[in-house]
Amino acid sequence: MSTASSAPLFPPNHALGDAALLARLAALDAEVLTDSDDRAFYAQDIADAGVTPLAVFRPHSVAALAAGVGMATAQGLALFPRGGGMSYTAAYLPDRARSLVIDTAALTGITAINETDMFVTVECGCTWAMLDAALAPLGLRTPFWGPFSGWNATVGGSISQGTATFGTARVGTSGDTVLAFDVVAADGRMVRTGAGGQPGHQPFTRQYGPDLTGVFANDCGALGIKARITLPLEPRPAAVGGVSFLFGDFAALAAAMRAIARTGLASEAFAMDPAVTRQFAGGSGGFAQDFAALRAIGLAQGSALAGLWRMVQVARAGRAFLGREGFHLHAVAEADDAATLRRRLARIRRLCDFGAVELPSTVPTMVRAIPFAPLPILSPTGGRMLPLHGIAPWSAVAGLDAAMTALIARHADVCTAVQLTIGTSFFGVARSGLLYEPVLYWPDARLLSHERRTTTDLPRHPANPAAAALVKKIAAEMIEVFHAAGATHLQIGRVYPWARGRDAGAMALIAAIKVEIDPQGLINPGALGLP
Ligand SMILES: Cc1cc2nc3c(=O)[nH]c(=O)nc-3n(C[C@H](O)[C@H](O)[C@H](O)COP(=O)(O)OP(=O)(O)OC[C@H]3O[C@@H](n4cnc5c(N)ncnc54)[C@H](O)[C@@H]3O)c2cc1C
Repeated sequence: MSTASSAPLFPPNHALGDAALLARLAALDAEVLTDSDDRAFYAQDIADAGVTPLAVFRPHSVAALAAGVGMATAQGLALFPRGGGMSYTAAYLPDRARSLVIDTAALTGITAINETDMFVTVECGCTWAMLDAALAPLGLRTPFWGPFSGWNATVGGSISQGTATFGTARVGTSGDTVLAFDVVAADGRMVRTGAGGQPGHQPFTRQYGPDLTGVFANDCGALGIKARITLPLEPRPAAVGGVSFLFGDFAALAAAMRAIARTGLASEAFAMDPAVTRQFAGGSGGFAQDFAALRAIGLAQGSALAGLWRMVQVARAGRAFLGREGFHLHAVAEADDAATLRRRLARIRRLCDFGAVELPSTVPTMVRAIPFAPLPILSPTGGRMLPLHGIAPWSAVAGLDAAMTALIARHADVCTAVQLTIGTSFFGVARSGLLYEPVLYWPDARLLSHERRTTTDLPRHPANPAAAALVKKIAAEMIEVFHAAGATHLQIGRVYPWARGRDAGAMALIAAIKVEIDPQGLINPGALGLP
């Protein structure tokens, strides 16, 4: 690791003004965006807007990233790294004008696919969809292989903040399986974690001495800018299938999800309460989107006849069953052959025996046919949405649900008055916990962030300050409920109370690492609750 006392790679030049610095950055293998619309757009996430930065720095190579970081911090500029910009916890929003947003969109290279030692190294801006497309022809994938937003979300952003979904019921969240990072420190030096940190060694395993890789996973970019990430590889499963069930209440749903989690049989297990299901029953994409999904389902079946048969089944089931009130559970299992898959699905069916009714498996089939479909970032009615979440240990899940249900009931009348609705989704996380995700939906004006990224023709709404204020109040209360239940969080950003009351020894260590990497506190200041 670099030391703060080493000779600076980029000595500060106090005579250099900001305009001259931007010109020097632009002379690297990089773009510098100074247009006011671009600066405003990159300072927004899905939920909020930060202070407009001086410019957006988009390096085209890891060398340019490292040089740009070193040059900018030498002149005292704060840096806010942004991947796909698909988060909603103010995780990369600038807090000052003398800053740069670092856009990693051009760092999409896949540096190594090592089929012998079974690892892949990607640049931080590679999306999960790009990675999957590169690995699929080789019959390979990574054990955690992306979020629903993976058509746009980057490997660097996802692993920096922690992400769930594909593979999560089996292997946990995005940081659990990462092998190594190459991280750019504030002075432009590279810090290399994992087994590849010695000359001529490969990053084929995470375990060799103290686990520095884990320190940088989920750091929200506060501990440096990830340039490259190494992930393990595994063979793609030959057979994939899903089952869906309808439960009468949350207690029965949670009992089934816990039973499935204990066996490790599912790769994904996710569920929705009646309010979320109602949002999707109408759907925003209509026939064209359904047809595209059906086509993908057909292509995913391996043979034309099998594909046709599956398309007919799914089309016949349609979306009608989504209108059935209750808690909908969808579980996906994988195996090396069809017979093993059938046995696994049969076991999952038996574990759902809590008075549940089996439904057509349309949702898991569609999700796996197009895992990285472009998803709207507005609600199906063109309104705003704000997801919150916590991962609770199974022992705390019933108490968490009771407290959250009471909180929502307490606000029911005021929510109705401002057209704010709340629905909750649930995801199994490996064997030990449930990701509980209430989503707030309300009609409101769009941010530039929504304007630029919404291509479908959704209704527009005027500003709704009463609802926006209520959203903030309810979100703050929900975060307290999660904290009281002992829940952990992905996407800590500037929203979740990771630092609050944390063990003093652990905090002192993290602070020391932060100072070592970023002595002036210029890399994503405020993220994780660190200065
Ligand atoms: C429609 C939709 C669907 C979603 N689905 C899921 C889902 O299935 N599962 C889930 O967990 N989340 C989901 N999310 C939330 C979000 O998309 C994911 O967490 C995603 O992984 C974020 O990746 P990103 O590249 O957009 O990161 P960003 O939002 O760009 O950044 C996230 C954090 O990482 C930091 N960062 C980015 N790049 C770097 C870097 N190179 N080095 C250091 N720090 C960096 C940023 O500063 C920030 O703190 C969804 C969001 C939307 C809008």
